[in-house]
Amino acid sequence: LEAQFAQSQKMQAIGQLAGGVAHDFNNLLTAIIGFSDLLLLKHKPGDPSFGELMQIKQNANRAAGLTRQLLAFSRQQTMRPQVLELPLIVDDLAVLLKRMIGDHISLKVEHGRDIWTVRADLVQLEQVMVNLVVNARDAMPNGGTITIRTSNITEGEASSLNFEGFVPADYVLIEVQDTGTGMPQEVLEKIFEPFFTTKELGKGTGLGLSTVYGIVKQTEGFIYPVSTVGVGTTFKIFLPRHGEVTTEAAGKAAAPVKDLT
Ligand code: ADP
Repeated sequence: LEAQFAQSQKMQAIGQLAGGVAHDFNNLLTAIIGFSDLLLLKHKPGDPSFGELMQIKQNANRAAGLTRQLLAFSRQQTMRPQVLELPLIVDDLAVLLKRMIGDHISLKVEHGRDIWTVRADLVQLEQVMVNLVVNARDAMPNGGTITIRTSNITEGEASSLNFEGFVPADYVLIEVQDTGTGMPQEVLEKIFEPFFTTKELGKGTGLGLSTVYGIVKQTEGFIYPVSTVGVGTTFKIFLPRHGEVTTEAAGKAAAPVKDLT
């Protein structure tokens, strides 16, 4: 618990700092982009400086993209919780996720029967799924399979689980599994830290998993990564059960196994 508290304090402090810096930085970038636009008006394609000016503008735009991500991270987003059915959310998102991962990776979705509802923020949960799937994709440059699974975990089952801070109760478990590179222990220890990344400059911000962590904590859930180098990684997210699934919804979440390859 202490470790979790320290983590969220740290994230808040870094978030505030990053937000302040990003804000000022964004103003400067707006000026750089604006002035390069002005210069581009004077130098048409074919002019000796045109290519260099385009480089300045493109890189300034990329930097602006990064600062936007930073601002989104630091903004204390107000949560709008509602009662949600995870299988439906996953199914709705699957088309977008499939498009994001490309053709060399297959996406499988497996739902347990009569999955309980959870109380959470829809946009936040979608963010969690997107961040985990993007990471899974990046861990499989040569292709592989991403499996998203939902299941009910009873308090009895939960009490046999044992990881730091975990409190047994009824949960809906959502798992995102990949067949990628996996992570060594020294990486695994740092993944939830803001700005920790092993990706090359410009590819990763190191904010994906700290955002996921923050959302899961806000939803009073738990996140637990299991990873083996050379085999793959599974992120397990436990969200507190809200209630029984309605019969209507149970009918809608009909197909229990879906292969979107
Ligand atoms: P980013 O993706 O921008 O690097 P994240 O916070 O999302 O930031 O992830 C931090 C680091 O955790 C990644 O750089 C990577 O080293 C590691 N990681 C996250 N997800 C996976 C995964 N599914 N497989 C292997 N490594 C991962």
